[in-house]
Amino acid sequence: MAKGDYYEILGVPRSASADEIKKAYRKMAVKYHPDKNPGDKAAEEKFKEVSEAYEVLKDDKRRAMYDQHGHAAFQGGDGQSYQYGGFQDPFDLFREVFGGGRGGSVFESFFGGGEGSYAQDRRGSDLRYDLEITLEEAFAGVTRVIEYRHNVACERCRGSGCEPGSKPKVCPQCHGRGQVITSQGFFSMSRPCPRCGGSGRIIEKPCQKCHGQGVQMDRTQVKVNIPAGVNNGTKLRFQGLGEAGVGGAAAGDLYIVVFVREHSVFKRDGADLIMKQSISFTLAALGGDIQIKTLKETARLKIPAGTQPGTIFKMKGYGMPQMHARGVGRSGDLLVQVTVEVPKKLTRDQREKLETFAVAMGEVTDSGEKSVKKN
Ligand SMILES: [Zn+2]
Ligand SMILES: [Zn+2]
Repeated sequence: MAKGDYYEILGVPRSASADEIKKAYRKMAVKYHPDKNPGDKAAEEKFKEVSEAYEVLKDDKRRAMYDQHGHAAFQGGDGQSYQYGGFQDPFDLFREVFGGGRGGSVFESFFGGGEGSYAQDRRGSDLRYDLEITLEEAFAGVTRVIEYRHNVACERCRGSGCEPGSKPKVCPQCHGRGQVITSQGFFSMSRPCPRCGGSGRIIEKPCQKCHGQGVQMDRTQVKVNIPAGVNNGTKLRFQGLGEAGVGGAAAGDLYIVVFVREHSVFKRDGADLIMKQSISFTLAALGGDIQIKTLKETARLKIPAGTQPGTIFKMKGYGMPQMHARGVGRSGDLLVQVTVEVPKKLTRDQREKLETFAVAMGEVTDSGEKSVKKN
């Protein structure tokens, strides 16, 4: 299905200011919110459409990309989609704009109204934290506490950048839009307002603590519960724990990317684990049981008589637990590939016995000399 035009979806002209876009989103989001339209699939679709449109148009960078490339701007490769694609959950976005929980009272803050919004109340940047864990930790699941530095809203001005008691003024040059239009021949271009730097407001009395930035550096600790069976490269999202937004806008998100360190014994293949196990050549020939130290426990593996080097035995359920949307699924398997060890040194007794064996196999004469095979 072709995607509709984001401006049309929100019912705003292409020249709409950030404020107009936000207003249009608020109106539409309330109208189509599933809480207001229980069971109405069409309304739900519309709700999603509206949030996607707003998510793009509220962000200057994304909006510029959309203006230039249309929907193609957000269908790039993986690297791109991390930054520009991957739309937010529509309910999260709704809460971000309206405040409040997902419950019944989400509309209160909207009808309460009165919150002043400016041209560029920009959401804070997302942050990424790479967390390395061992395969044992990935197997069992682990809780880690990480500490990182990021911008949070200034405590003195609560992110406004204004000295407490004062208020920002609407920028007289762009009238709060944050953008000014310049014309060159036939073309008119919109660019950030030089007077206010695109924020749409002028701070006359900057906060003494943050000098009008609205943010301060802080350390935050986050407890990360890493589920059993986590894959290498799994991204865990922590909403609102990224950089603080500008002008009291929502903070970005923190993404914790989990890296599973290589293991000296086990190699991972999806949910399966693969290991090599050496066994003696007598065990390979005669058969018997061995003990395998799996990640779960030490378990018995039966080696049948006549096992050939390179044979792979499957220990069912001794691989990695599998993560599913609905809890833990069946574990993968452990694949044990046997290598057969040939002794490097033999005692006299062992040697005599092996020679007897060789004679029994018809390989060696009883004097110990190799016989020449006769055809
Ligand atoms: Zn401040
Ligand atoms: Zn301005």
